[in-house]
Amino acid sequence: MIPPGSTIGIVGGGQLGRMLSIAAAQLGYRCHIFDPHPNPCAADVAAAFTRAEFDDIPALQAFAAKVDIVTYEFENLPVEPLALLGDKLRPGVRSLAIAQERAEEKTFIESTGARVAPWRPIDGLDDVRSAVSELGLPLVLKTRCYGYDGKGQAWVRSADELDAAWDAIGRAPAIAEAAVAFITEYSVILCRWADGRHVFWDSPENEHRDGILHRSTVPGGEAVAAQVEEARAAALRIAEALDHVGVLTVEFFASADGPLVNEIAPRVHNSGHWTIEGAVTSQFEQHIRAICDLHPGLTGLTRGGATMENLIGSDIDRWPELVGERGVHVHLYGKDDARPGRKMGHVTRVIR
Ligand code: AMP
Repeated sequence: MIPPGSTIGIVGGGQLGRMLSIAAAQLGYRCHIFDPHPNPCAADVAAAFTRAEFDDIPALQAFAAKVDIVTYEFENLPVEPLALLGDKLRPGVRSLAIAQERAEEKTFIESTGARVAPWRPIDGLDDVRSAVSELGLPLVLKTRCYGYDGKGQAWVRSADELDAAWDAIGRAPAIAEAAVAFITEYSVILCRWADGRHVFWDSPENEHRDGILHRSTVPGGEAVAAQVEEARAAALRIAEALDHVGVLTVEFFASADGPLVNEIAPRVHNSGHWTIEGAVTSQFEQHIRAICDLHPGLTGLTRGGATMENLIGSDIDRWPELVGERGVHVHLYGKDDARPGRKMGHVTRVIR
């Protein structure tokens, strides 16, 4: 057990690291952020900050020597330097490695018995042509690495869009995925302990705009209720196969013939932000509890449910009106540059 009073190292200093640090502080831990940017928003609420590149091994080792345990808040991190941290890293590097390469991720998910949309690996234009004839149209090209929030993706809706889509993703190694005619999207958010104990939260139904999460709602609708049991079983098999410790999120499409996994995030997730006010224990506190091997907290709803909406880019300008709205929980991440598509904050409304 890593007791309160200890220091938790967090690799990555974005809003997830910020909300993890706030939750850790409530339990009496100190956090130390490791990030290459000059003023990452998590550093504002943490006890210490190391500014270094993620592959700077001496800096990473000096950081690890100052903390009692290390976790990470996003998955596009080089695996080898973090592998040197061994057992001090929770979750381990296997969860990290699987989630950062889409072809390996899909193969792994299928190996656990969960289903994904039909897909093919793509290494050149010829592969895109064969994928079109095998999977049909429309299909989506997704780069194998460094894709998030719809980045590194291009749709092919007709045969004449094929070259443009391949150019749009930078002719990088990719996968082609058949379009899923989904009823809705939802996620399973679970937290697992090293001894196998695990908990789930209610599964939020998720709406995306331009490939970025716009709103999460719990409880989800009928389609989510009908599929969540099967989806939870699949998500747990994934967590067990990874021997994952901490929060793991699996995003699903609710298709007419059941849950299809879209992707895995080996971490706390945007679709779980509602748990701060909407659940007895938030995903952030639970992650800290699991990596430090404290007792699991209850995950039930505090009220009838909740909706969470992201504040993206200039949405942040609405903050005066939002903080004036009765009962709304406003979270601003303290980022100064409200670029289009950048996650600047979120609001949660708890349903009574
Ligand atoms: P991703 O970055 O892969 O999570 O994709 C972002 C969003 O794009 C998803 O949440 C879906 O709304 C949409 N999307 C991605 N892949 C597909 C697909 N194969 N079929 C239909 N919609 C998709």
